[in-house]
Amino acid sequence: SRKKIIAGNWKMHNTPQQSLAFVKAFLPLVADHTRDEIVLCPPYLSLATVVEATKGSNVMVGAQNMHWEVKGAFTGECSPEMLVESGVTHVIIGHSERRQYFNETDDTVNRKLEVALEHGLTPIVCVGEVLEEREAGLTEDVLRRQCSRAFRGISGKKAAKLVMAYEPVWAIGTGKTATPEIAEDAHLVIRGEAAKAFGDDFAHALRIQYGGSVKADNARTLMSQPDIDGALVGGASLDAAGFAKIVKY
Ligand code: 13P
Repeated sequence: SRKKIIAGNWKMHNTPQQSLAFVKAFLPLVADHTRDEIVLCPPYLSLATVVEATKGSNVMVGAQNMHWEVKGAFTGECSPEMLVESGVTHVIIGHSERRQYFNETDDTVNRKLEVALEHGLTPIVCVGEVLEEREAGLTEDVLRRQCSRAFRGISGKKAAKLVMAYEPVWAIGTGKTATPEIAEDAHLVIRGEAAKAFGDDFAHALRIQYGGSVKADNARTLMSQPDIDGALVGGASLDAAGFAKIVKY
């Protein structure tokens, strides 16, 4: 009964022109698709182009990051207000690449989550363990910590739009997809943390995406797991026909 949400995270790919070409090719391929929510997450500079090109369609637009302040002396950053005014509805928060290369922490994730919700954006909060943590048997601890810190101080009433994404770092861009069982287990841990923070009803309605080497040929098996409610797709979202196949898994 949870409507699945399939999002393409383009990362640092697609100029405005390339983004426009993608949307023109992609929209007709998914025009009749209402089963799942579809979101494209282009880089900042292509957001306006993609918002314009998807107007009136069944495709929504998300940013890949955002600052937690509304304005100020934060050179190079983008505010929630700027996203909202541009027609952006979703925002990815705490992607592992942001944590790994740009010093994103559980604390900045928490601040960004709070402000995204305040501005009516749908946050997609990413959590996931690195390979060493998995091999050391720490996956559950890591997920619990990332979730509980992300949720700290946030009220369930305000968090209704929250979407979570389980992205095991060892599966991102590696071609090594988590098995459906591994993903399902992790999703149950995340749902459990949401229940602790926000209550059982909230946790039951919460959508949790899987991300990490999702392709057209493994999407269906992953999506058929009871607690997997969508996908956050990187590399395979860069090809319009390929991503349309994933959307229609
Ligand atoms: P890949 O699909 O390229 O493995 O990337 C996953 C991801 O990081 C999506 O946010």
